Amino acid sequence: MIRKADKPEIESTMKHDPPRVLDPLAGVEDGLIPESIRPQSLPYFVGQPEVKTKLAICIEAARRRGEALDHVLLSGPPGLGKTTLAHIIANEMGTSLRTTSGPVIERKADLAGLLTELKEGDVLFVDEIHRLNRLVEECLYPALEDFFIDIMIGEGPHAKSVKINLPKFTLVGATTRSGMLSGPLRDRFGIQCRLNFYEHEDIEQILNRSARILEIPYEPEGLRELAARSRRTPRVANRLLRRVRDYAQVRADGRLTPLVVRDALRLLEIDTQGLDQMDRRILTTIHEKFGGGPVGLRTLAIAVGEDDGTLEEVYEPFLIQEGFLNRTPNGRMLSPKAYTHLGLTPARTPYQPDWFSDEPV
Ligand code: ADP
Repeated sequence: MIRKADKPEIESTMKHDPPRVLDPLAGVEDGLIPESIRPQSLPYFVGQPEVKTKLAICIEAARRRGEALDHVLLSGPPGLGKTTLAHIIANEMGTSLRTTSGPVIERKADLAGLLTELKEGDVLFVDEIHRLNRLVEECLYPALEDFFIDIMIGEGPHAKSVKINLPKFTLVGATTRSGMLSGPLRDRFGIQCRLNFYEHEDIEQILNRSARILEIPYEPEGLRELAARSRRTPRVANRLLRRVRDYAQVRADGRLTPLVVRDALRLLEIDTQGLDQMDRRILTTIHEKFGGGPVGLRTLAIAVGEDDGTLEEVYEPFLIQEGFLNRTPNGRMLSPKAYTHLGLTPARTPYQPDWFSDEPV
């Protein structure tokens, strides 16, 4: 059986205690959700039709040629299915998956250890690949292109470089920050896929399947309501499903009706658009402290008490996608939709950012 992904670095960067219910980073991989909920083959992977078609063709072609699949780069916000796709790729190719994460590979020797353990056709999944350090990254180039690595044996004047041939393997890299990937590394991925937020119907289908696997009784309208408030993110949807099930079992007869879903989500402070407390704090802070913006990322992060990387990777993409927030050359600005949704009135005098500050926006 393929091992579950361990994401030590991701878990350790979690800032929420207890975890935010809508947090797409928080703990599915900690074993909370049974393995079967994670789709094991492409037909069960819902949505993302372009990505699925591209992968299906490349996998079939590689299988017919009896070759390892070309290296694959998966990018997109957390919780959208990058790890799941890495598992599926290995399954579909009939090979084993080895999982690690960029920041865990600290030295060239760590990388050499990983690569030399691989067998022909194996898949190496590197999560957060944009966080690989430069030395390791450079050592990876010949491994990806020509399947060898150079390692130094010994020290000082007696040190010598030894070339080690590697089996033909497939690197699957995942990143939430594709812009941070260096050009040379990106160019070495023959197959590049960007995952987008899901349609509500896709999330509904994912919830349907999860509810059946977890044996949760539901009314279709109940799941529809839940799907509409799940940040278009499968991980969030599965997590909310469990919380709503808890509520339904304790406060109702266990069935997920629209009313039960609404009541449970009200308790979890998730509004009709799927925004949670933190999302609303970000938007109201921009309004109250910065007159609606524009405000730089770091200033905003300090004002809401969150790490700027988390703000940019976890919260912003959904707020921007749903049209609550605009990213302008001068910083983040509230959109008319945010004012309407939160019942706010735009400030009369626009906020004047500090033009002399050296903060990037
Ligand atoms: P990422 O690696 O992008 O952070 P994951 O692959 O860990 O996200 O996905 C999070 C969870 O969402 C998985 O446990 C999986 O069950 C579910 N999931 C993700 N994408 C899909 C999909 N397309 N269809 C069904 N379930 C999905």
